[in-house]
Amino acid sequence: MCVRSCFQSSCLQWAWRTAFLKHIQRRHQGSHRWTHLGGSTYRAVIFDMGGVLIPSPGRVAAEWEVQNRIPSGTILKALMEGGENGPWMRFMRAEITAEGFLREFGRLCSEMSKTSVPVDSFFSLLTSERVAKQFPVMTEAITQIRAKGLQTAVLSNNFYLPNQKSFLPLDRKQFDVVVESCVEGICKPDPRIYKLCLERLGLQPSESIFLDDLGPNVKAAASLGIHTIKVNDPETAVKELEALLGFTLRLGVPNTQPVRKTMEIPKDSLKKYLKDLLGIQTTGPLELLQFDHGQSNPTYYIRLANRDLVLRKKPPGTLLPSAHAIEREFSVVGTPFYVMEYCPGLIYKDPSLPGLEPSHRRAIYTAMNTVLCKIHSVDPQAVGLEDYGKQGAYIPRQVRTWVKQYRASETSTIPAMERLIEWLPLHLPHQQRTTLVHGDFRLDNLVFHPEKPEVLAVLDWELSTLGDPLIDVAYSCLAHYLPSSFPVLRGFNDCDLTQLGIPAAEEYFRMYCLQMGLPPTENWNFYMAFSFFRLAAILQGVYWRSLTGQASSAHAEQTGKLTEFVSNLAWDFAVKEGFRVFKEMPFKNPLTRFCHTWARSQSQWYPIGTRSYSSVPEASPAHASRGGLVISPESLSPPVRELYHRLKRFMEQHVYPAEPELQSHQASAARWSPSPLIEDLKEKAKAEGLWNLFLPLEADPEKKYGAGLTNVEYAHLCELMGTSLYAPEICNCSAPDTGNMELLVRYGTEAQKARWLMPLLEGKARSCFAMTEPQVASSDATNIEASIREEDSFYVINGHKWWITGILDPRCQLCVFMGKTDPHAPRHRQQSVLLVPMDTPGIKIIRPLTVYGLEDAPGGHGEVRFERVHVPKENMVLGPGRGFEITQGRLGPGRIHHCMRLIGFSERALALMKARVKSRVAFGKPLVEQGTVLADIAQSRVEIEQARLLVLRAAHVMDLAGNKAAALDIAMIKMVAPSMASRVIDRAIQAFGAAGLSSDYPLAQFFTWARALRFADGPDEVHRATVAKLELKHRI
Ligand SMILES: Cc1cc2nc3c(=O)[nH]c(=O)nc-3n(C[C@H](O)[C@H](O)[C@H](O)COP(=O)(O)OP(=O)(O)OC[C@H]3O[C@@H](n4cnc5c(N)ncnc54)[C@H](O)[C@@H]3O)c2cc1C
Repeated sequence: MCVRSCFQSSCLQWAWRTAFLKHIQRRHQGSHRWTHLGGSTYRAVIFDMGGVLIPSPGRVAAEWEVQNRIPSGTILKALMEGGENGPWMRFMRAEITAEGFLREFGRLCSEMSKTSVPVDSFFSLLTSERVAKQFPVMTEAITQIRAKGLQTAVLSNNFYLPNQKSFLPLDRKQFDVVVESCVEGICKPDPRIYKLCLERLGLQPSESIFLDDLGPNVKAAASLGIHTIKVNDPETAVKELEALLGFTLRLGVPNTQPVRKTMEIPKDSLKKYLKDLLGIQTTGPLELLQFDHGQSNPTYYIRLANRDLVLRKKPPGTLLPSAHAIEREFSVVGTPFYVMEYCPGLIYKDPSLPGLEPSHRRAIYTAMNTVLCKIHSVDPQAVGLEDYGKQGAYIPRQVRTWVKQYRASETSTIPAMERLIEWLPLHLPHQQRTTLVHGDFRLDNLVFHPEKPEVLAVLDWELSTLGDPLIDVAYSCLAHYLPSSFPVLRGFNDCDLTQLGIPAAEEYFRMYCLQMGLPPTENWNFYMAFSFFRLAAILQGVYWRSLTGQASSAHAEQTGKLTEFVSNLAWDFAVKEGFRVFKEMPFKNPLTRFCHTWARSQSQWYPIGTRSYSSVPEASPAHASRGGLVISPESLSPPVRELYHRLKRFMEQHVYPAEPELQSHQASAARWSPSPLIEDLKEKAKAEGLWNLFLPLEADPEKKYGAGLTNVEYAHLCELMGTSLYAPEICNCSAPDTGNMELLVRYGTEAQKARWLMPLLEGKARSCFAMTEPQVASSDATNIEASIREEDSFYVINGHKWWITGILDPRCQLCVFMGKTDPHAPRHRQQSVLLVPMDTPGIKIIRPLTVYGLEDAPGGHGEVRFERVHVPKENMVLGPGRGFEITQGRLGPGRIHHCMRLIGFSERALALMKARVKSRVAFGKPLVEQGTVLADIAQSRVEIEQARLLVLRAAHVMDLAGNKAAALDIAMIKMVAPSMASRVIDRAIQAFGAAGLSSDYPLAQFFTWARALRFADGPDEVHRATVAKLELKHRI
């Protein structure tokens, strides 16, 4: 697109134009000063480092404190504590090492804030590449100063890093002299260090200018006769420096850099073209710089005569079909391009808006929302854009386009992308409106007014067209779900939005709907899923180009590798949206409810009944299991109902009859070896398709690993398995293997899956989960102390664990180990999960623990020491510091299986009780005729039904809204189910008399387990605390 047509057709002409006019005025005002090169007498500029060239420790600390919930100002106060002889200043003079400093400093911070302060994490951040970066404005200034023949120096209070090198994240070539306090053993404001610097520069004080952000340092320099600038903000400081030096220090354009080697364009032909086009008569040079962002299409700043322009072009090399749709212009610069007027202003590249007040941040996001509403309110016809895009079917076209783009750059199969490619066309929302769509609407594509929260211009219109405006709203919320460490497109999902003042995605969406006068959309998750899918396709394109050496950014290769991460995010939203669609599926008969009690005696061994009360008599609608809450197995969809009955037959024919033999094996000398009968029954269950039923459809949508049941469907089957202590293992559905398998399916690499998941799924291996430690209260997992340290290509673990279920089983091949990789990281980023092969040297089982005297052989519950256990690095799950995310955040279904089984325990206990009291006579009549026995039976029935409904509800919410949304329901059933089961089983034991305590019946073992589960699945109190917290948060 050429300049003229671009200016004519741009629908945002108003934005560009206003901005441009304002800019021209300002630029002209400034040009007098810029052309004045007046006779400066200065010969050097001396820069402090922190706060002048790179961010100051104080500023870094302020943000870090917010993110880590440390009382504001703690770090700064502690830095200043003790003055000259405080730990910071002694560290600056290298009188103490980094380790010594951190110890002392940590203590000081903790005393001041009365909380534990992980100062190591602050120190890591302060010295990280992400933070310790020279301000571009200073880089430009130094280049200009040196170009004028002046010397430059750094005079910094600085320190040695633990590797004994001083912390100097600067290009030394920029400076003639570098003076560091840690090298000299003297700190500013001691005059000697200034004199040292001047001496090395060979200058008198009056010949130099010194910039520092700290008043005392500035004052000391001034008292020596050095000209000084107190730096509050680098941009303003550069302006002051310009005034003193009398020449410009700005290349004129923020966020630019010299043109990268691979992105050079022929200046001469471009200059000729622009001169002809714009009618410019000049012999002066064409100034060309490259903007430092813009992944897909490189963007350049051009200054020709007095015109400031922006050129955007396609990258060089082979491109994906129809990508980079910059309109077809003849190749003046090698590839098609277009040119725009330059609009000066602020571009916020970090969406968390560091350094701004919360109210300011909110205002920025509100302005962003408002400008989007304005774009979407443009009447395409009124501005002559009715032909700007195809009419209708925007989303289906977009899905097709991005699938095509992705396929064209695909380098390997990404499972989530494959699922999305199938899912997206099946879940297209109904498009409500057609408006102008920007197509890439995000914060860093907006130019803001430097002094007020007002959008001056909107950039990057390559993807603009006519379409569904909700795409733009969703796309502008990507940052909400991406981490701050996400390269290129930064996010803030790891920040506290309330504290920052940034509206949450839902609120942002509501603001939009309110401004546009629209009802809130139901398809929010679809739009997010599609936006992330599109981002994944874009990243894949960048990656593909990096492989062919044509990427326009140095980050390209790294970026492309993130495709998989982003596609998983997209799939998370698809899952949520999918559940919504589920919910809306029409019922054939909405009144149908089937609820069966267990009444009929089924087994001569232990009478198990069938739940059988119903409001209507016959079979269920085909999709009932996907729509409403299915409260009885009879209402399951026909295939699942058939599976349920198959399982029931299997229980009656094979499992219950085997119980006495299995029980006596557990009491025999051979108990620490697996029972051959169990192995035999496992083969039978496998042959009947009663195998691996536990993996929820949502985690395994292709049914690659399991039966693909919903949580509600599985709840009914799991309850049935729970009526026998042995059935879960026989059907390969027992803990802790189920949780570990789910973890591997969700987070394991392909290699980890091949090594561990497959043998577990086949039932050939078993596994354990090692978290709890004797020396700390392990109900608070942040207390876990076991260490995981990096040593060469290994992680080395040391720790003491106990209550590790299954670890004594000779088939146990895998220990999923939780420990600390970084004790100084924020609390929830310290733990990691590592896959430890059980045959690794250093794992020492100390003893089996017993629960009320029961050993629970052959798996048992072991106390174990891990002594310098070397584990290959590739056995880390997801990455260091992700332990909490793995064990708490996303593992849902595995956490409620115990509750489902507890309902099974209870049903079995009640059935046994009923049979017993009918057949036993005391004081002249059957026990069943005693009022107290009847009352107990009634009480147990009511309690079981209440708990079952709650369990089914939790499973249902997990199916409909996802595991996270079901947090309250999950905590409620964990609070309710074990106690309920304990009471019901206890009543049954009471009715049985002493026999109930023996091992002739499963009651004693049921009781033991129900009691143990009030710890094993987290103590009751912790679940109660969660329920109360969520109740107070959401239901006031
Ligand atoms: C049979 C069995 C099997 C187990 N299997 C495993 C396993 O395979 N792997 C594994 O790692 N662990 C396992 N455990 C351990 C179990 O997870 C822990 O016992 C549980 O997390 C509690 O930790 P703790 O024992 O250290 O109790 P602590 O953390 O010391 O807590 C003690 C008590 O403090 C009180 N308390 C704690 N928090 C709160 C609060 N917020 N409010 C009020 N009161 C509170 C409660 O009364 C709690 O019971 C198993 C335990 C049992 C009994």
